[in-house]
Amino acid sequence: MSQKSDIVKIAKMMYQKEMVNAFEGNISIKNNDEIIITPSQICKGLLDESMLMTTNLDGKVLSGDYKISSETGLHIEAYKLRKNINAVVHAHSPYATAFAIANKPIESKAYPEMIALFKKVPIIKYGTPSTKEVYADLKNYIFDYDVVLLQNHGIVAFGSDVFDAYFKLESIESIAKVLLLNQLLGGPSNLPDDEVKKLLSW
Ligand SMILES: [Zn+2]
Repeated sequence: MSQKSDIVKIAKMMYQKEMVNAFEGNISIKNNDEIIITPSQICKGLLDESMLMTTNLDGKVLSGDYKISSETGLHIEAYKLRKNINAVVHAHSPYATAFAIANKPIESKAYPEMIALFKKVPIIKYGTPSTKEVYADLKNYIFDYDVVLLQNHGIVAFGSDVFDAYFKLESIESIAKVLLLNQLLGGPSNLPDDEVKKLLSW
């Protein structure tokens, strides 16, 4: 399956699963010295392969008829920093973004899968959307985490391929939902420290 059809497949899945609204979110794949990325302002549910954009690693558009995604710089920065990343998925998915705009990392001592699979989803410092400030703090987290929150903005996940990146994002969105709903029930029933330690060493 081609990289472009993989992006379209994930874009439609993201829209169906309500990870993105009609105007938000972006997906990219690294292809040697180029990236293939979703265009700005096109609903992910209506995307097709011909709408995808290609840029070089300086953000220069090489092909595509649409406006380049406003967060292209964030994607490129991730690829430049960590060489084992081949795909980046960014969204303003509601539950994870609720944490991001509260400036609270996603972490738990009560949810075993969260602890074992992700340890924590940290927050990188706020930057004005569409500027370099959005990812200025990324270098401090990207080597230790595959998913991070962007303060007062949203969530971004990195993967070996676009499925890997998206499934991590979707998984965190689901965990964020549980943790938030849990607050309605009086908050978490935390596991003992030795159990948390076991999970952290998985
Ligand atoms: Zn965004």
